[in-house]
Amino acid sequence: MSVPTKTEMIAEGKAKKIYATTDPTKLIFYFKDDATAFNAQKKGTIESKGMLNQRISARFFTMLRGKGIDNHYVETLNDREMLVERLEIIPVETILRNLITGSCRKRLDREEGEEPAGPIIEFCYKSDELGDPLINDDHAIAFGWATEKELAEIRRQTLAVNAELKPFLAARGILLVDFKLEFGRTQDGSVLLGDEICPDTCRFWDIETRKKLDKDRFRQDLGEVSEAYLEIDRRTAQ
Ligand code: 5GP
Repeated sequence: MSVPTKTEMIAEGKAKKIYATTDPTKLIFYFKDDATAFNAQKKGTIESKGMLNQRISARFFTMLRGKGIDNHYVETLNDREMLVERLEIIPVETILRNLITGSCRKRLDREEGEEPAGPIIEFCYKSDELGDPLINDDHAIAFGWATEKELAEIRRQTLAVNAELKPFLAARGILLVDFKLEFGRTQDGSVLLGDEICPDTCRFWDIETRKKLDKDRFRQDLGEVSEAYLEIDRRTAQ
């Protein structure tokens, strides 16, 4: 079958443009160089970010599928565009933390880089206006964002992603500190991993030096931002 082509843009997010295609079951993601942080209060561009995030996400999705974790990735179309399965997005962002930093460290006044007894999963309501507030399962169920069964499946898949991605990265000298995933529903109502998995949505530290190799370099004005994305691309290519 021929590859579907772009029709109209249906959404523009902070880092991606999303297009409908000639196949109603598929979308095209266009990855931009634009970067935002702190709920879009800080804006900028990161050279080559779109290209690198497309490539890194495609690599992770392919690796995860090979390990039995299905996801929305279909194929890479060019440097900045990927074809994905169309999903009905569940408006709940799932965060998994292997080490404590970021908003969790601040909220609970924990030590930077503390290792909890096991991975911690958090849910946030996907809302730019509200700044993606932390919620629990009861909010998601009571407000109709996800069912109890879907949340259990999201937890199961999130732990499975961590169980594969963490050692994959460790073997390449990268510590998977934390990450954010998004899930959606397929036509038949099952829960499928979507969105992107890249240095915008994960925290990666060098395993030896703990140097940050992710979007925190942009958020915290640390410099060498593109270089960090390039380093993750380079190390994960092997
Ligand atoms: P934190 O809650 O500490 O700010 O973020 C935890 C993890 O989730 C980090 O890896 C961060 O990059 C990711 N994350 C959380 N919310 C968002 C978001 O709205 N956009 C992006 N790109 N990543 C997020």
